[in-house]
Amino acid sequence: MRVFNFAAGPSILPLEVLQEAQKDLLDYNGSGMSIAEMSHRSKTFMAVNDEANALLRELLNIGDDYAVLFVQGGASQQFASVPLNLMTTGVADYIVTGNFAKKAQEEGAKYGVANIVASSKDKNYTYIPNLDGVEFSKDASYVHITSNNTIFGTRYTKFPKTSAPLVADMSSNILSEEINVNDFGLIYAGAQKNIAPAGVTIVIAKRELLGKQLDICPTMLNYAIQDKNDSLYNTPPCFPMYISMLVFRWLKKLGGIKEIQKINEYKAGLLYDFIDNSSLYTNSVNKNDRSIMNVPFVTGSEELDAEFVKEATKNGLVSLKGHRLVGGMRASIYNAMPVEGVKALIEFMKKFEMEHK
Ligand SMILES: *Cc1c(COP(=O)(O)O)cnc(C)c1O
Repeated sequence: MRVFNFAAGPSILPLEVLQEAQKDLLDYNGSGMSIAEMSHRSKTFMAVNDEANALLRELLNIGDDYAVLFVQGGASQQFASVPLNLMTTGVADYIVTGNFAKKAQEEGAKYGVANIVASSKDKNYTYIPNLDGVEFSKDASYVHITSNNTIFGTRYTKFPKTSAPLVADMSSNILSEEINVNDFGLIYAGAQKNIAPAGVTIVIAKRELLGKQLDICPTMLNYAIQDKNDSLYNTPPCFPMYISMLVFRWLKKLGGIKEIQKINEYKAGLLYDFIDNSSLYTNSVNKNDRSIMNVPFVTGSEELDAEFVKEATKNGLVSLKGHRLVGGMRASIYNAMPVEGVKALIEFMKKFEMEHK
């Protein structure tokens, strides 16, 4: 039996996509083999690479002035790749809104000055700092933000206007709501939250920023080289790229980002409304900054939280345990989580609340 999987990552994939992949597993497109078994230089795989690239461009309305890359190493590798490629002045600004943002800043500090220009650490990252009055460094090569904070359940609802290129880690909310790619110098996202299995990382980069990498930048991390080779400098993560293509097709068929955003807002609205009106559960995030992908909540008692997670699992609602830095529960309701999954969770929460009054 399939469960409703609320894991933060790797996480739920659309059922239709899994079924399609299952159907194709032994014989992809009449090739007599799986997509996981064939040369990345084969015509068949090149078509997958091209279609995944084209569909992502279509979904996010990405122009030719941007490179779209499929690379390895996860979002954490990008914490280094970004400064190695873009920190041409030796200085960059970072906004620290959570654990991953902090890791990105610490990695950046290995290659130059990584200024923390704003942080929400003072309130355990329960809000996004107001950036209106923030003084960015005059010589910053870029300003780095984390658009959605997977662990703490916050998200930017408005992006800062910066004179230096804006770089965003969108690992946990890429393709969940409409964005204007032209507002960014570079966007990166590990695929295992909202796109595909772990193993592929998406990079969307303004081409005019590329080719100015530091001398020590490894070839494999060099965006300009990856771009020149259409993500095929070496063997790419073929299977996750193929699943990415299927997920992009699924999103397109559904009506694109505009439609999925409506569904995501609806799902998150149901869950937050229920939590806000409940006498047992609370979510401590500043209301304007709430994530529509990751919803942390607590009962106020650690024992009750543990019991909640255990009982929910028995009811087919799994991976609801919160991150160790926050405790309690976290429901990750990515694009692939159906509305029924969120409704089933709310029904369970109601029942659990009644039983523990
Ligand atoms: C999960 C996550 C990461 C880490 O991703 P890896 O692919 O495991 O390196 C980084 N940033 C954000 C916002 C994340 O959600």
